[in-house]
Amino acid sequence: MLDIIRPDDRRYPGVRHVYTATGSPAAVIRPRSADEVAEALLWAREAGGPLSIRSGGHGLSSVSTNDGGTVIDLGELSSIERIDAGDGLVRIGPGARWGDVARALHPWGLAISSGDSGDVGVGGLATTAGVGLMGRAHGLTIDHIVAARIVTADGSIRTLDAEEEPDLFWAVRGAGANMGIVTSMDFRAAPVPMVAHATFHYGVPRLAPFLRSWGETVEAAPREIGAFLYMGGGEVVMASVVFAGEDTVAAEQAFAPFLKIGRVLGRRAVLTPYASVVTRTGAPHYGQQGAYLHNGFAVHLDGPLSKRLETLLGSQYGTMVQIRSVGGAVNDVPTEATAFAHRYQNFSVTAVAPGPSASFDAAWEFVRPSLDGLYLSFETAFSPQRLTDAFPPPTLQRLREIKRKVDPENVFNQNFPVA
Ligand SMILES: Cc1cc2nc3c(=O)[nH]c(=O)nc-3n(C[C@H](O)[C@H](O)[C@H](O)COP(=O)(O)OP(=O)(O)OC[C@H]3O[C@@H](n4cnc5c(N)ncnc54)[C@H](O)[C@@H]3O)c2cc1C
Repeated sequence: MLDIIRPDDRRYPGVRHVYTATGSPAAVIRPRSADEVAEALLWAREAGGPLSIRSGGHGLSSVSTNDGGTVIDLGELSSIERIDAGDGLVRIGPGARWGDVARALHPWGLAISSGDSGDVGVGGLATTAGVGLMGRAHGLTIDHIVAARIVTADGSIRTLDAEEEPDLFWAVRGAGANMGIVTSMDFRAAPVPMVAHATFHYGVPRLAPFLRSWGETVEAAPREIGAFLYMGGGEVVMASVVFAGEDTVAAEQAFAPFLKIGRVLGRRAVLTPYASVVTRTGAPHYGQQGAYLHNGFAVHLDGPLSKRLETLLGSQYGTMVQIRSVGGAVNDVPTEATAFAHRYQNFSVTAVAPGPSASFDAAWEFVRPSLDGLYLSFETAFSPQRLTDAFPPPTLQRLREIKRKVDPENVFNQNFPVA
């Protein structure tokens, strides 16, 4: 029997909200198997109203809860198992969090590059891309997926891989939320016993020249290096840099150029399991993190982009800018191989404001001409233009053809709908 949590259930306060929003759904269903996911979907379609799919509840566009509709919460589908002894194949449920995945894989000497937060769920991240600190070494999270199981709008359970349903398998790796509900994924994890993790704090009186040097340093770094930069508007800028390997001499050499960018106020480097880079807080969700974001990719952090970001952060509108490295192994994968099509840029640039703001939108419009493409996981303002930024025309056309076949009634319409 389906576990359906309604507002009069004592468990309801624990499942109604997500990380970035409060919600008041009429029902939260917590399936325990793929069959129950299918049953829950048919139940929700019958009930009508908005339908939200939730894995970890850390989606930044807050679409994994709603008011008055149904949430299918995949938190119970969180197993992490090794399915082949020799080649790093693991099967993971969408409700697992990346921090738990990293902890489970470490004793096997394995890791999968995910994002920078261990609280983020597998389902949301692995259906869009997964821009992580080991991305230049090992690619996006979706590049590790070798098979997936999904419940489509008609309630059927399908297995996808390169041979079986290749179109849907392609679509799930970048636009999964449009296609159905992923109930498990098989990943080929990389052999990563340990990584070197450095954090740097820089004193940055002038952001534009610093960003140019940062960009050049990251692009020149060996592929083992993944580097994320976090700026909050003040003069202190924080960086998290991973060397995906355990050769400490090579790591030290790779970190050395990062000590020459501007004034280093603090530095620390440790050899550590990847699990300690993506730690999980496990905090309950109550809409604690209001988030309104814009994003774009950049090939280089060149002069015009650096100046524009300096202006944005100097204004009162953008409260935070984060620059994540991509490139390297991410760009070894052909553009047409997955529904995530951005395979030549070197950086993902995200600006964050505490809530919707026309002034922030206007300030971002000043930055956007320097950007190229968009990562939908870091964009909260959906529009037809943003859709084509996320999915270039050939990708969007193919997605629409697949969507027409598997979801003709546009049941999955909450997260960058392509229909
Ligand atoms: C603190 C923080 C740090 C982050 N850092 C990074 C980062 O470094 N790199 C990066 O790439 N991303 C990052 N993200 C973005 C993150 O990848 C997305 O927000 C992702 O959607 C969260 O996954 P979730 O399962 O927790 O989301 P949920 O809120 O559970 O889901 C969000 C949406 O994704 C879709 N979805 C979820 N599960 C499924 C499923 N099983 N099948 C089909 N569709 C599904 C649904 O449309 C759902 O509404 C970060 C987010 C946060 C909050």
